[in-house]
Amino acid sequence: MVARCEVCGNEYDRAFQVILDGGRHTFDSFECAAHALAPKCAHCGCRILGHGVEKEGVIYCSASCAKQEGITELRDRV
Ligand SMILES: [Zn+2]
Ligand SMILES: [Zn+2]
Repeated sequence: MVARCEVCGNEYDRAFQVILDGGRHTFDSFECAAHALAPKCAHCGCRILGHGVEKEGVIYCSASCAKQEGITELRDRV
């Protein structure tokens, strides 16, 4: 069965699916999955892979981005 990556449109017979929040997503690579599923920094919009900081459910890629949104006290996500 050939599936089409929903990020780049590549058709790939080893595409994999991720079920997230009840929705089904098809990707050909982890890179595409990360592109679609990784959270975005609320300030600069970049993808957060791994480390980020979170305050009241809003995620930033770094403490400096959080600061620019007026957030001074935050804890690092581990
Ligand atoms: Zn892809
Ligand atoms: Zn940022």
